[in-house]
Amino acid sequence: MTGAARKFVFAFGGGRAEGDAGMRARLGGKGANLAEMSRLGLPVPPGFTIAAEVCAASDARGGAWPDGLDRQVAEALGAVERLAGARFGDAAAPLLLSVRSGARESMPGMMDTVLNLGLNDATVEGLARGGGARFAWDSYRRFVQMYGDVALGVDHGAFEDILERRKDERGARLDTELDADDWREVVARYKEKIREATGADFPQDPERQLRGAIGAVFGSWRNRRAVTYRKLHGIPDDWGTAVTVQSMAFGNMGEDCATGVAFTRDPSTGANEVFGEFLVNAQGEDVVAGLRTPFPLASADGDSPSLEALMPEAHARLIDALGRLEAHYRDMQDVEFTIQSGRLYLLQTRSGKRTAAAALKIAVDMADEGLIDRREAVRRIDPDSLERLLHPTLDPNAPREVFARGLAASPGAASGRLALTADEAEARARTGESAILARVETSPEDIHGMHAASGIVTARGGMTSHAAVVARGMGRPCVSGAGELKIDAAAGTVAAGGVTLAAGDIVTIDGSTGEIMRGAVAMARPDPGPDFARLMAWADEFRTLRVRANAETPADARTARAFGAEGIGLCRTEHMFFDADRILAIRQVIMSETEEERRAALEAILPMQRRDFAELFEIMAGLPVTVRLLDPPLHEFLPRGRGALAEMARATGAPEAEVARRAGQLRELNPMLGRRGCRLGLSYPEIYETQTRAIFEAAIAAGEKRGAAVALEIMIPLAATERELALLRERIDAVARAVAREAGTAPDYTVGAMIELPRACLRAGDLARAAQFFSFGTNDLTQTAFGISRDDSAGFLNRYAELGVLADDPFVTLDKDGVGELIALAVERGRGARADLKLGICGEHGGDPESIAFCHRAGLDYVSCSPWRVPVARLAAARAALEEAP
Ligand code: PEP
Ligand code: MG
Repeated sequence: MTGAARKFVFAFGGGRAEGDAGMRARLGGKGANLAEMSRLGLPVPPGFTIAAEVCAASDARGGAWPDGLDRQVAEALGAVERLAGARFGDAAAPLLLSVRSGARESMPGMMDTVLNLGLNDATVEGLARGGGARFAWDSYRRFVQMYGDVALGVDHGAFEDILERRKDERGARLDTELDADDWREVVARYKEKIREATGADFPQDPERQLRGAIGAVFGSWRNRRAVTYRKLHGIPDDWGTAVTVQSMAFGNMGEDCATGVAFTRDPSTGANEVFGEFLVNAQGEDVVAGLRTPFPLASADGDSPSLEALMPEAHARLIDALGRLEAHYRDMQDVEFTIQSGRLYLLQTRSGKRTAAAALKIAVDMADEGLIDRREAVRRIDPDSLERLLHPTLDPNAPREVFARGLAASPGAASGRLALTADEAEARARTGESAILARVETSPEDIHGMHAASGIVTARGGMTSHAAVVARGMGRPCVSGAGELKIDAAAGTVAAGGVTLAAGDIVTIDGSTGEIMRGAVAMARPDPGPDFARLMAWADEFRTLRVRANAETPADARTARAFGAEGIGLCRTEHMFFDADRILAIRQVIMSETEEERRAALEAILPMQRRDFAELFEIMAGLPVTVRLLDPPLHEFLPRGRGALAEMARATGAPEAEVARRAGQLRELNPMLGRRGCRLGLSYPEIYETQTRAIFEAAIAAGEKRGAAVALEIMIPLAATERELALLRERIDAVARAVAREAGTAPDYTVGAMIELPRACLRAGDLARAAQFFSFGTNDLTQTAFGISRDDSAGFLNRYAELGVLADDPFVTLDKDGVGELIALAVERGRGARADLKLGICGEHGGDPESIAFCHRAGLDYVSCSPWRVPVARLAAARAALEEAP
């Protein structure tokens, strides 16, 4: 091939840029936004970004660079030199570079960075002339350490050890107590270590350093923590990272230098005020690593140190830049900055991670401010995050024993057992325990434990430390910087104020106040506030899918209505017998051997059911209520164990051996496929007859009380053939006629089928002749379609996921080439036979945002989910509608 080589390198700086914010797929978020900031005329140190496709291309060629890249890098470096007014490798006044990763989606702390690149034994002297010997040698040791770790693969612990040893020798506690000669000595020892570990000298040639660093940063796309992070966040492995090479700005050149992080709005609460932290005389990684506790940009009391007080001019410029960035991006920005000798530089901007509460407030405020429209506000909220807003906080009246205090780094409360390592947190979570991960500070290596934990505590680090940022992103409560905590992972203890707790002890943390408490503290449901109600109202304007709830108890029905449910999509009547004093009644029905016995047992049930239904109908006040006729999975209802058998024997007066024999007779090898649902109803007609009578009588009574009819839908479970439905409908209609004769009023109702079997989907055209509505029961439909039980105690699903057989967990999200395809088929065939067939879904998928979007596209009328997920479903339905018609 001839002609110009493909362009891989995109320069920025001096108010211009070859890239822009729209190029994040190629330049990564960091590179694209640096280019954009440069175009906006904001103070960005000059640099260039190497596109992400080089990551994959050089990977495929065993690390070799694609043709033309060498030349493009050299040219771009030349431009940086001209803009910076310094030359790379110049022993008198060297240009130094940072080399950073930056993927399309931010992966904070997961990949590598090299700073101060270009230093060697000669240039360090030149740097010393401009910035002082201490600064120069400190920068050199940082570079050798980072490069040694990232590019040469020398364990960074080895460097830490050398540094600690030097501090011991000098009787120093802090790095800042070391002087230029100390750093010179540390550099010599670092180089010695590198020679020992790699068999080669630390590279002195800046060009070679640059090549090595670029290669290593590309390579960090494949390190373990990055791979784990991508898996957790669904980021494709083939995106690759871009690499940005940029002229260094020094925040560590003296007392008029600083480095920090700023958010254009408060990332915890969403309040419209700049929020951030900084360290004087420090380099960026010092802030993010949380090793020193930083100061706020502006102090509330005006007394404690703040950027505003210490460097008013740079502070004012920063505030101005933040305002411009937010207006430009129309979103809350998270900005990294450095102040070198009083001059402000912006090193990064990105859309800031925020808590669920902050996301909501920011979206609503920005819509009010006219920065975005309401559609955009609705699009900006992740439906799953809403549930977090509704999740427990500490009951304000509950007694608590505060053990230690830290920063309120990520809101919400959690109780759990102390875990002092990420692995331990993960192990506890795996056994179903709630874990609170307590670390001196967290690092990207802890990510799996942070994910598994219910809450996170650190002894060190500020509001923008790794722990705080990651916890907010994950929605985990976090208390950071609890300095009084002595966490000893080796000894397995956490001590504060004279009290020592051990790993496994229960603690409670409140990420909204920073409190850490002993024991479990009672929780309360929060009030999500007016922004929540407004955003939900906007969502309701856009959505076309209706949202109902699965509920059978009065409490659930009330919760469902409070969250905006437009009816009950599934009332599981067998669940109305879960109470200890009722389970016997239903067991007697199930275990009866003769119709006579069964009728007697049902007599006891009729009044209970009538009361239950009447209450539900009243609460739902004319909204549709779908009552499913009894569908008891027999294995859940049969008495098991000595206690239950004896109790049953007492209640029925039958000998225990008799009860055990009958239970054995009814026990099925595969309870999922046995005498369930309408099969039970057809085998023992008196069960459904009694239930429908209770339903009709309750509906008439509730209707009379309200003065308006109840919108009653009777649903037949586990149907597969038209004949089943036709037989059962005849009986339901007969009961209705009988009740009408007795009551003098005819009940209003429709009869529909639950679609829970692949066969029902295939026969949907026939079923629709006998059913006025369908409701997809995807809990059973996924299991029966995949032939896999949800009860995966053998861990088979994990194995299947490992083997790559099941890409998506069918029990979480419907996909189009599986259960989704069956649903689409059933919709087509069902509506073909009955144009006004009402269609809904009531399996767990009815509360899963992706599945809800699928249901929207499939043309369903409503979804039904658990009451707490109703807001999630309302929002997901709105977003699905907006996706279709933006
Ligand atoms: C279903 O199968 O999806 C359903 C809602 O019914 P259940 O979960 O009660 O089996
Ligand atoms: Mg079912």
